[in-house]
Amino acid sequence: MRNAEVPFQQKPYLRKYRFFPFREYLKEQFPYKVYKIPLHAGFTCPNRDGRAGTGGCTYCINESFSPNVKGPYFSIKEQIEKGKEFHRKRYGAEKFIAYFQSFTNTYADIDTLRSYYEEALSDKDVIGISIGTRPDCVTDDILNLINTYTHKYHVWIEYGLQSIHDTTLRRVNRGHNYKVFLDAIHRTKKTCIHICVHVILGLPGETRNDMMETAGAIARLGIQGIKLHHLYVAKNTVLAKEYFEGRIQTMDVNTYTKLTVDFLERIPSDVTVQRLVGDTHGDFLISPTWKASKASITSGITREFEYRNTYQGFLCNKNGPGLTPEAYEDHGTLSPGKDKPGQDSEKLKLSTIEI
Ligand code: SF4
Repeated sequence: MRNAEVPFQQKPYLRKYRFFPFREYLKEQFPYKVYKIPLHAGFTCPNRDGRAGTGGCTYCINESFSPNVKGPYFSIKEQIEKGKEFHRKRYGAEKFIAYFQSFTNTYADIDTLRSYYEEALSDKDVIGISIGTRPDCVTDDILNLINTYTHKYHVWIEYGLQSIHDTTLRRVNRGHNYKVFLDAIHRTKKTCIHICVHVILGLPGETRNDMMETAGAIARLGIQGIKLHHLYVAKNTVLAKEYFEGRIQTMDVNTYTKLTVDFLERIPSDVTVQRLVGDTHGDFLISPTWKASKASITSGITREFEYRNTYQGFLCNKNGPGLTPEAYEDHGTLSPGKDKPGQDSEKLKLSTIEI
């Protein structure tokens, strides 16, 4: 059972940002500057090769969010060297977390996984590892292997969930359901591995209420991190076809800002936010083409919290797990009957945010 919410005033990061940025989390954990180095280990995905499904998730084209997938393959060691150099020069980074990002990074036999993970951990400046994967791709043996690293390193596993609603998961061809995710969380919580969950806001057919149900369910999991991003349409995806057929829509930046704040008000304030907005590389992006930078969207989210006079975890119970009754009320963020993101955004009852 998680601790009750600590008062807002006692958390400096909440006073400053109104949510718990991963950067602040790393500062709390380490006496030096730590950055994540994204890696492509050459794994594939069971939702593409037929084991869980074919065609992949309808929105997925790894090249659009994971630049390492393109171009020639470099060994883990080489990628880490390049990543270290880049982050040192740009941010003054001192130590690193090796982030196995692309595709499904537990999708291989134990010996192969061990050799990749340990190649990364053998670098003297790597103090941790973060492994992105699907919840249907973690056996107990794999979790036990990853758990052995927790004695010496800072260790995360990142599960793609996207939504708790099986209808949505089927609609985007995720190839797993919510029950499988809960089972993975349950087994991971028996280890010392930190858990981060990925969620997409604005998935096809989802209402605001659906997304808030996902937030409420995640709030009760006792995880340590969350990554959010908006639905975007990238070239060469099934979603792109649906988009051009007029079957799906994307959100404007104001709607996304409001939804993110609604979502984070339901997430306990000790859950660190590792990502607030999606990222596309190259010319893959079709929609939405927001003019705002990631930094301005992030500060817009802080300003929306300030405008509401709320913060991450505002709607969590102060005396134990779960949400306050207010979390289940309609805050009027979206107009009644018009609660599909991306639809009728001009009619939304929104405060105006200058981003
Ligand atoms: S599970 Fe990940 S890599 Fe596989 S198709 Fe879906 S988004 Fe792409």
